[in-house]
Amino acid sequence: MSQSQSQPRNTQPETSLMSRLTALCKRRGFIYPASEIYGGLNGFWDFGPLGVLLKNNLRDAWWRDMVLCPPLGPDGEPLSIVGIDTSIIQHPKTWEASGHVGGFSDPMQTCRKCKKLFRADHIEDMLGDAEWVKSFADAMKVGAAGTLQLGGFLTGQTPFDGVAARQWAQKQGKKAAPGLALVRNPAVTLSWIDEDMRADPAKTFSFMDLLRYVATEQKNVTGLQTPCPNCGGDLTEPRQFNLMFESRVGAVEADDDSGKVYLRPETAQGIFLQYKNVLDTSRVRPPFGIAQVGKSFRNEVTPRNFIFRTREFEQMEMEFFVPPEDGMKWYEFWAAERMRWWKDMGLSEANLFRHEIGDGDRAFYSAATADIEYKYPFTAPNFGELEGVAYRTDYDLKQHQTFSKTNLEYIDQENSRRYLPHVIEPAAGLTRGVLALLCEAYQYDESRASPEWLKLKPSLAPTKIGIFPLVNKDGMPEIAEKLYLDLRRTYTCQYDAKQSIGKRYARMDEAGTPFCITVDGETAKDNAVTIRDRDTAQQERVALDQVRAYVAKKLTD
Ligand code: ATP
Repeated sequence: MSQSQSQPRNTQPETSLMSRLTALCKRRGFIYPASEIYGGLNGFWDFGPLGVLLKNNLRDAWWRDMVLCPPLGPDGEPLSIVGIDTSIIQHPKTWEASGHVGGFSDPMQTCRKCKKLFRADHIEDMLGDAEWVKSFADAMKVGAAGTLQLGGFLTGQTPFDGVAARQWAQKQGKKAAPGLALVRNPAVTLSWIDEDMRADPAKTFSFMDLLRYVATEQKNVTGLQTPCPNCGGDLTEPRQFNLMFESRVGAVEADDDSGKVYLRPETAQGIFLQYKNVLDTSRVRPPFGIAQVGKSFRNEVTPRNFIFRTREFEQMEMEFFVPPEDGMKWYEFWAAERMRWWKDMGLSEANLFRHEIGDGDRAFYSAATADIEYKYPFTAPNFGELEGVAYRTDYDLKQHQTFSKTNLEYIDQENSRRYLPHVIEPAAGLTRGVLALLCEAYQYDESRASPEWLKLKPSLAPTKIGIFPLVNKDGMPEIAEKLYLDLRRTYTCQYDAKQSIGKRYARMDEAGTPFCITVDGETAKDNAVTIRDRDTAQQERVALDQVRAYVAKKLTD
């Protein structure tokens, strides 16, 4: 994941990269499992001292580039975007109007054997990751050796080897996939597959078809079964499942629904509810934006992949209100601008992808949607969503106008007309953004004191400077402490006088600290220190009175 060709590459297998990153995050105080002493709570994570700094730095960069100092618009005009901070709990009608109460649900399938719940659209991916699928593919000699990602051999046309299938079922399959039809009842399952094959001896099929064949005990009217990624058992038909967390306000009886409220599943709706107040009380008029950063909650059925899909997470959303006829122009502008921004945060071009969502796959009210996707280690070679940029037309304002019976039109005095603005929404995940930064930054190089280190963009790094006296005597600590007291007024600094200098550098590299300043025996004589660059491990001698300017310049590069 290194950016420069000259850097030693991470040669470790991708599968263990996430576990090593997760371990590093815990060890260095970036991210811990929530409620860990009680065994953790699935889908919830806590940010530690370094993690909260990194998250806040990313959040602040977004706020600065969206609200304080937004980009120039497509015609070179300065944009006006204001901030807001709305309640997590809103009037329950909000979610009826937005469609979340009726429709914010993912089709779910339950395994009839192990009872696990899965999001229907995740099942193929999960099968690709499942150990039993990999072991079955090995036994069936499917795909090129070593490439066991489903994407790699899904498309390959595969002949069926009944003997190998039976052997696998009687050995590895018993433990790995006890629910699979082939394992539970090999004789019956294989005999109908055999019959099917005889009827068409030249038959070949994809690996996914093969999995469905061996997951189906008896072919019948319902056709082939898709196996459970966990145990191989058969799955129910997809059913709707509401993702919103419910709570109650006030002292209400448990069986009384009148106090029922929801934790917001997105920050956007709070913006729509206040759009009229913002228009009436500040000097904005279309085109303008309202931005918000905050927590959102979704009772995800399959939280997974570290902080990629969690049940409590943070979003950075902006609703940009424009005259209806300008919608597509602004959609194009924001989709391109948001890609540019993520690159500016240090994500490499090769790891980013703009996925234009086709007509059939968009929300019905959206005129255009692009997902900005990142190549996470667990999605590679594919990409996973990082941010969605959606042209939502006037759908949300219209819905809230209808449900609240409040006129939400903008009165354009200049052109004597009134209209409901159209909305472009760049909706980014802050939590997912932190994960993308960490994945991009993670480096592995055996030749360094700390083989694992984080190449974070210096302005986003949690700690900017490590300050060390080379040894804890001969006047060095005094000079180092003075420098520390000066620099910490501006930058997050860490003073460290313990252990060997190599160990101190290693600790800073793991934390992604871009600069380490060492006060040595010469400093008292030449009034200079060495500054070590995290990425090159090169040291430069810099005069004490030039240290501030040196660091300031590097942080704005
Ligand atoms: P997905 O398809 O991955 O569930 P989504 O399309 O439902 O995501 P949006 O509703 O567009 O997501 O939310 C905007 C952004 O919020 C996403 O791009 C993502 O970065 C973030 N996000 C959404 N759900 C989660 C989650 N469960 N955990 C962490 N971040 C999330």
